[in-house]
Amino acid sequence: MHKERLDRFARHMVLPEIGGAGQLALSNAHVVLVGLGGIGSPALQYLAGAGIGRLTLIDDDKVDATNLQRQTIYAERDIGHGKTVAAQRWVSNFDAKLNIAISDLRVTRDNAPELVRGASLVLDGCDNFATRLAVSDACVAEGVPLVSGAVGRFQGQVAAFAGHLTGQSCYRCFVGDAFDADDCDSCAEDGMLGAMAGWVGTFAALQAVRVLLQGVSSLGDPQWGKLHLLDGLKPEMRTMTIAKDPECRGCG
Ligand SMILES: [Zn+2]
Repeated sequence: MHKERLDRFARHMVLPEIGGAGQLALSNAHVVLVGLGGIGSPALQYLAGAGIGRLTLIDDDKVDATNLQRQTIYAERDIGHGKTVAAQRWVSNFDAKLNIAISDLRVTRDNAPELVRGASLVLDGCDNFATRLAVSDACVAEGVPLVSGAVGRFQGQVAAFAGHLTGQSCYRCFVGDAFDADDCDSCAEDGMLGAMAGWVGTFAALQAVRVLLQGVSSLGDPQWGKLHLLDGLKPEMRTMTIAKDPECRGCG
């Protein structure tokens, strides 16, 4: 690594839980981000900050004035522009050394496998079940780990799945099959505290780093199948385990 990069990531490398080997693994990682909204924006900021060398940014939406309250990578001048283009601009300004690809396709069951193929990890912070299930099934089929984040009002959920591995659950084991056709964005009706989405997004980025460091440094415990429930009202965090469903259509 060049001196300039060593300086940039010095506060990571000095941590024994990450170290130089861990930082190198992050630099060599390819993370696919699905959804560049309230979760994806802060997650992207911390993943880019962590020097994830290759990022694929997927969102079919445009920036709207109502997004700015929580979607931290966008500014007023981005309103009306595609989220992927605005996000790519944010990353380029932040760290021109990172390799960025973008897609403004709507993720479907048909195109999801190609979009996640070969990635080190997918971080899904999108806003609907149909996309989440399509992404999860594609991750299982392609053997890609998935970190899933969701938020509504003051409640958040973050979990890491490796349904392609024997005995490990997937996102579909958790939610079942009832939501494949559910394409609505509940956040529009329910409302959300901006910082709550930030908590979920940054925590999802932390869990993503754990996954990426597996087998490299001591922080690398992916905690497969552990669902963390974030309650912003109390506040409180609880953890439960999602068991593998042997009948699961995604991973069974
Ligand atoms: Zn499953």
